[in-house]
Order: sequence, then C-alpha cells, then structure tokens
Amino acid sequence: MNQFEIKRLVDKAYDKAELNKEEITSLLAADINQLDYLLQKADQKRKEICEDEVHLRAIIEFSNYCRRNCYYCGLRKDNQHLQRYQLKKEEIIKTAQMAAELGYQTVVLQSGEDEYPTAQITEIIKEIKNTTGMAITLSLGERDFAAYKLWREAGADRYLLKHETADQRLYEKYHPGMSFENRIESLKYLKKIGYQIGSGVIIDLPGQTPEILAEDLLLSQKLELDMIGSGPFIPHEKTPLAESKTGTVEMTLKFTALSRLLLPLAHIPATTALGTIDVEGRQKALMAGANVVMPNVTDSQYREKYQIYPGKICINEEAGDCRQCIGGIIASLGRFVSQNKGHSLRK
Ligand code: SF4
Repeated sequence: MNQFEIKRLVDKAYDKAELNKEEITSLLAADINQLDYLLQKADQKRKEICEDEVHLRAIIEFSNYCRRNCYYCGLRKDNQHLQRYQLKKEEIIKTAQMAAELGYQTVVLQSGEDEYPTAQITEIIKEIKNTTGMAITLSLGERDFAAYKLWREAGADRYLLKHETADQRLYEKYHPGMSFENRIESLKYLKKIGYQIGSGVIIDLPGQTPEILAEDLLLSQKLELDMIGSGPFIPHEKTPLAESKTGTVEMTLKFTALSRLLLPLAHIPATTALGTIDVEGRQKALMAGANVVMPNVTDSQYREKYQIYPGKICINEEAGDCRQCIGGIIASLGRFVSQNKGHSLRK
C-alpha cells in the first residue's frame, strides 16, 4: 500500500471512526515502518478525547484456580505444575483498601474462572465500596447471569470479559468446552444491566490473520465497548501452544492505534503483556492511543503464581513501588495520573 492510500484511510478513520473490513485489514497488513501517520493520528485522537490524563486501575489477582483449559493460558486447569492460591475475603478487602491509600481510584478484582462463592464476592464489593468509594471492575470470567446482576446491584461498576478473538472457529478451538456465542451474549447482557464493559484481544494467536483482527475491531464497535485492550500472545511452556511464536509489538501497536481511531471513546490500556515482550512496550502503546495502565497490587508472594504467560514483568515489586514506577513512566511522557475514577467516556 502506498503512503497516499495509507493517509486516505487513516484520515477517514480519524474523521469518521469508520473503516470497512477490507480497509482495516490493509492497514493491519502494512509494514509498521509505513505507519508513522497511523500512530501519530491515534495519539492526536487520544489527546483530543482524553487529554494527557492516564487512568490507573489497580489489579488484585485473588485466585489462580480455574476450571477452564484455554490453550494459551498458564492458569489452565490441566497445568499441574502450578501452586494454586485463593485469597480470603478479608485479604482482598485489605488489599483494596491499601490500593485506595496509594491513591488508586479503581480496583480490578481478577481471578481464573474459579468457583469463588457468589455471596462472598457480593460482600467484598459492598465492603470495598463502603470503605473506599473506589470504582470496582470485575474480571472473573463467565459466571451465571444472576450473579452478574447481583454484583451490579451490590455496586460493581465494570466487567472485563475479553472475547480474545472474533473468529468463532479459532475461539472454540482454543477454549475447549466454551461457546463464542455465550461470550458475546454475556457481554451484551452485562452492558444491558448497566455495567461499563471491557473486552480484549490476544494479538498474533496462532492461526489469526489481519482479516480476523479487523473482525475484532468491527465486533468491538458493535458491542459499544467502554474499554478495549490488546496484548501480544506469549507462549507458556505448560500449555498446548508452548512451541508457537510470540506475538509482535508491531501488530499490537497497529491494533491499539486502530482501536483509538475506530472506538474513540473507549478506554485503552497499555498492557502488561506488551511491557513484557518490550521494555518500552507500555510507553509505545501510550503514544499510540492508550490512556490506561493497570498496575498489580497483589501481595508479591502470590504474583509469580498468576502467570497466564511467562516472564510477566513487575512480579517482585511491592504495590507502592509499582505506583511510583508507573507514575514516573507517565510523567516521562509528559502525561499525568488522573485523580478521578475514569468512568466510561461514552456517558
Ligand atoms: S484464560 Fe482465564 S478462563 Fe482461560 S484458563 Fe486462563 S484463567 Fe482460566
């Protein structure tokens, strides 16, 4: 594709937040060296919509038990080499309160698809809300619809449920026993009952093509996502995809930039996975449309046991150190840490 055509497509995306599948595919397939203009316009759109504010979301990884067997994930049930842990209700609440003291405005309660009791999660949400006032994001995988409703009524604000890939065949291949349809229906239901919804995509999953990634962006538009993330695939040695190739920084950045142009009002994280394959990865994403960073506040004794992929950064740091380090990264880019909750930009 020549520079004239790239400029035409990027300008169209910038002005109208609209491209068809073929147009998105051709940008995703272009060499990153030709795409300075795409990254630059995504950064410009980010500045227009979000200014220089970066939202921090503190993640508590409270259980690495999982009943699923996703092909790419180190937490999969069949990984017998992993020591499992589950934090107690009081520990989760205490960690959230510590995050609030560090200045975080949002806490993300994350686990594998554990059978953590619905009622206890309800109590945790209420207690965190009452004692800290923080925004609460749940990232607990697929649960029954009644639980989603109960937790929303208890005060949870957002639900993060990544669809991972918009290609049904690929989705069902890598998620044995799971249904793509149910994933999408869950996202729609969550939105309907008032959650701000987030989804995400694994970049460069084996078998994925630029056409499929274009579908991911079109699906994300259709779902009216409040947040969209993308992280490169990183093979984990205790999974069926152990021998597959690691995803690229380049494709992740192209996807991030197109996410900003096609979903201008979405929050977009600079993912830890990108920071894992490239020490400057999060900075690069923040300069290509991203406006969110999600530091880990889980007690350091548990962090290395929550490795969906290997080599994850920041597993030895304490929560306070992470807060400072991330603040430094953000300031070095001439940006600042937001002092508000960073609710959906769609509202
Ligand atoms: S991706 Fe999530 S649901 Fe799948 S195995 Fe890992 S933790 Fe479990």
